[in-house]
Amino acid sequence: MASWNPRTLAVSAGRPVREAGAAVNPPLVLSSTFVSAGVPGPHDLVYGRSDTPAWHPFEEALAQLEQAPSPALVYASGMAAVAAALSLVPPGGRLVLPRHVYQITAQLAHDLARQARVRLALVDVQDTEQVVRAVQGTDGSAQPAAMLWVESPSNPMLEVADLPALVAAAHAAGTLVVVDNTFATPLGQRPLVVGADVVVHSVTKYLSGHSDVVLGAALAADPAVRDRLLAYRTLHGAIAGPAEVWLALRGLRTLALRVERSQANAAVLARRLVEHPAVTQVRHPSLPGDPGHDRAARLMDGFGSMIALRVRGGAAAADAVVAAVQLWLSATSLGGVESSLERRRRFGTESPTVPDDLLRLSVGIEDVDDLWADLDQALGAGR
Ligand code: PLP
Repeated sequence: MASWNPRTLAVSAGRPVREAGAAVNPPLVLSSTFVSAGVPGPHDLVYGRSDTPAWHPFEEALAQLEQAPSPALVYASGMAAVAAALSLVPPGGRLVLPRHVYQITAQLAHDLARQARVRLALVDVQDTEQVVRAVQGTDGSAQPAAMLWVESPSNPMLEVADLPALVAAAHAAGTLVVVDNTFATPLGQRPLVVGADVVVHSVTKYLSGHSDVVLGAALAADPAVRDRLLAYRTLHGAIAGPAEVWLALRGLRTLALRVERSQANAAVLARRLVEHPAVTQVRHPSLPGDPGHDRAARLMDGFGSMIALRVRGGAAAADAVVAAVQLWLSATSLGGVESSLERRRRFGTESPTVPDDLLRLSVGIEDVDDLWADLDQALGAGR
């Protein structure tokens, strides 16, 4: 039934058929091959790289959450899903990419550009006119883009895109729109509903939610596009392990509780951080003064649980904060129940336009006053 609230679907979708004696959870299917009907047919499971019932409950549940017309496709990682989506750009086609996206997505796009597989145009996703010009080819490139890539809110700068406006302009130019919905989750926004063509996720993050799984997923509005994403998965072999998918579905059941708690914590912490003497800038869309606030309030359900902040004293002071935390984890990744933070530019591959002193915080579900006490003492150590 498609009319349930997404918070309900996270709990109810992807369950086995209800009948007396049936398990309420799908089984963990560990089989690399399947008894064949002998004659190839569309529903004949043959081999675990092509298809397995181990994937179906999660793929069905995520499709319901994203309001996709057909099941999601799970991949070995978020990056495998990103690679599948980028493969949709035709050889030599133009790819419009925000200058701030997940750094490995950017690296892959640059790698494809170096091989002349795609032509890359970098944009500021907050600047709708600039993105539209790049999509239309009126920025001097004289050719509409084949693909517009959007991350909103963006990693790690927390920039918010005007997604409906970008989708409208892209479709008028015949451009495919891919949205990485990892930060917002389908509880925060459902890009396919506003017309995006493809959604990708790092399931590693909020969807699984416990930092115990590496997994990705992609969904498509058009069955022909989904067929290409499926072919990419099968041919490249970047498939998900059955145990990872089972754990991700288990994690998905508590998505609404986790997201609601962590984003409430994030909003409280963001307000307190703005007042902190060791902090020079805070980015969280919940803040009324944030450049993305009005857009996020208009387009999203909730403001998300990621915060970006800049620390007085530069990279060394930011590193000192990370070294001083006792409850927060000094760790990369995000979207787990536990709060973590990191200085993004410690990776030499992070965009040079990301400030050197920027800390990215993934706010978890712990008690907010404990989180604040630890952050406050660590910020004191940075001064
Ligand atoms: N997209 C975003 C926004 C991410 O933050 C990440 C990972 O951090 C990825 C994609 C890649 O996902 P994975 O680490 O599961 O390959």
